[in-house]
Amino acid sequence: MTVKDLAEKIEVKAKEVLKKLMEKRMVLTINTTLDTETATMIAREFGADVKMRTFEEEMVVLESEVIDPGDLVPRAPVVTVLGHVDHGKTTLLDAIRETRVAEQEAGGITQHIGAYAAEIDGRRIVFLDTPGHEAFTMMRARGASVTDVVVLVVAADDGVMPQTQEAIDHARVADVPILVAINKIDKSDANPERVKQELAERELTPEDWGGQTVMVPVSAKKRDNLDTLLEMILLVTELGEHKANPKRMATGAVLEAKVDRGRGPVATILVQDGTLHVGDNFIVGTHVGRVRALIDDRGQPLKEAEPSSPVEVLGLTGLPQPGDALQVVADAAKARQIALLRQNQAKTLESLQQQLAEGEAKELPIIIKADVQGSAEVLAESLAKLGDERVKIRIIHTGVGAISEWDVLLASTSNAIIIGFNVRPDRNAAGVAEREGVDIRKHSVIYNVTDELKKAMTGLLEPTTRERQLGLAEVREVFKVPKIGLAAGCIVTDGSITRAGDAQARLVRDGVIVHEGRIGSLRRFKDDVNEVKTGIECGITFERFSDIKTGDVIEAFTVEKVATV
Ligand code: GDP
Repeated sequence: MTVKDLAEKIEVKAKEVLKKLMEKRMVLTINTTLDTETATMIAREFGADVKMRTFEEEMVVLESEVIDPGDLVPRAPVVTVLGHVDHGKTTLLDAIRETRVAEQEAGGITQHIGAYAAEIDGRRIVFLDTPGHEAFTMMRARGASVTDVVVLVVAADDGVMPQTQEAIDHARVADVPILVAINKIDKSDANPERVKQELAERELTPEDWGGQTVMVPVSAKKRDNLDTLLEMILLVTELGEHKANPKRMATGAVLEAKVDRGRGPVATILVQDGTLHVGDNFIVGTHVGRVRALIDDRGQPLKEAEPSSPVEVLGLTGLPQPGDALQVVADAAKARQIALLRQNQAKTLESLQQQLAEGEAKELPIIIKADVQGSAEVLAESLAKLGDERVKIRIIHTGVGAISEWDVLLASTSNAIIIGFNVRPDRNAAGVAEREGVDIRKHSVIYNVTDELKKAMTGLLEPTTRERQLGLAEVREVFKVPKIGLAAGCIVTDGSITRAGDAQARLVRDGVIVHEGRIGSLRRFKDDVNEVKTGIECGITFERFSDIKTGDVIEAFTVEKVATV
């Protein structure tokens, strides 16, 4: 909490709190966020009774709504489709969607939001439609259990394969019942009996052999027997008695999340309990929000979403991760408080260093942008290895090309730092990074990247040097200059281009640094000048370099020393 929040809580003037802090040699402002220890100490000194509540306890407080068991009603089961590659998961999901989603009313367009609801005899079944074990395990790794039943797809012409076994293991660890779809029975070499045999060897004994596992022969391609499969899903899950209370404040899990042009961060939420309404305040992951709009899997706006509904939620303030929990809370202030509790993450290398010095274990999310795929991969690999028990390094995104506004927004919402390897932020990205306080570390030697991270982790990060951009110029034409080679005919588009003092310059092509060095000559018409300002044309050459092309950008900058925070 901030000094101001603390003062309000313990009912003393903020000025008094600041004075107390000053006595302890902490010169802060009323908006400074205090760590738990300091806040506790100060509160106790003012005679307040401080009780620590862990995050889990906070959640319990949240969930201690009075619940009437009489309000419980059955909810639709949620299905994840798993199986070996090419056994027909995607085909099966598409076939069910096309035959069982009442899409006519929406003009036949179903939109992909990460899940859809299918209907059979007026009853609903929700399918998560990102097949694959990664999605399933990632959700679980983040503590979400959304799946009521796993449909294991096994191709009748191929049998149990490595990923079939993997899927069985995943489902067992998650304690989720398995229903088998023996697929591709239309094929001439299909051998469902062999599949049953192989599954029985793995303790999935078919019902008709006296076992417990429901197995349905289907053809996803020919759409044969899909209704039986759906009926069986309902039958299997009925026994599980999946109930929810639509009268509660909603809880749910993030299935997908993305930053959408024009709509901001958008998440697909599976409402697991309660009802989610437009206007509800919520926390999701480390972010707060207020539901601005709900959109279902047919692109239709909704006023509210009941248990077991997949919906797109608009109105987030940041980008959550798949598997993050969503929790509706009574008011926005409470939401912010809990989000702060969760947000205890590093945003810059310096703050990471500081937090580590304070003895906190941290996770450091990193985004890597590089000039070529190879470098991005090598970097991701070597950085991931750097983590230890105090700092876990998590590469959340790697890509090739200039650092974009999207990269910066992703970094901002996930508290990540960006490593630019031989690449630069594009014009929008640089501005957004400054506004959002996103740390972009630019490098061109892999060793320097790992070295810098290592130093930050061991608390040895030196006062860093930081670049200050002086100006940008766009190359409009390229012409030959005797003895020198090529010169760039430019227009200065931002700041000024200068060759004074310790100014340096780099040539950037499509966001990738082509050359870094000093400006050889700077001319207005035939005259040498020291500086050219925005909007003015000039001729530029580099010292000992002349591979310049029309459309390149020349950036003038200086390097300054800054002390660590
Ligand atoms: P996934 O990797 O498990 O998602 O598999 P896909 O759904 O992409 O299917 C792999 C291939 O199998 C595709 O060429 C499908 O057309 C084919 N396929 C899927 N289901 C069937 C089926 O029931 N019968 C036949 N003959 N082919 C199928």
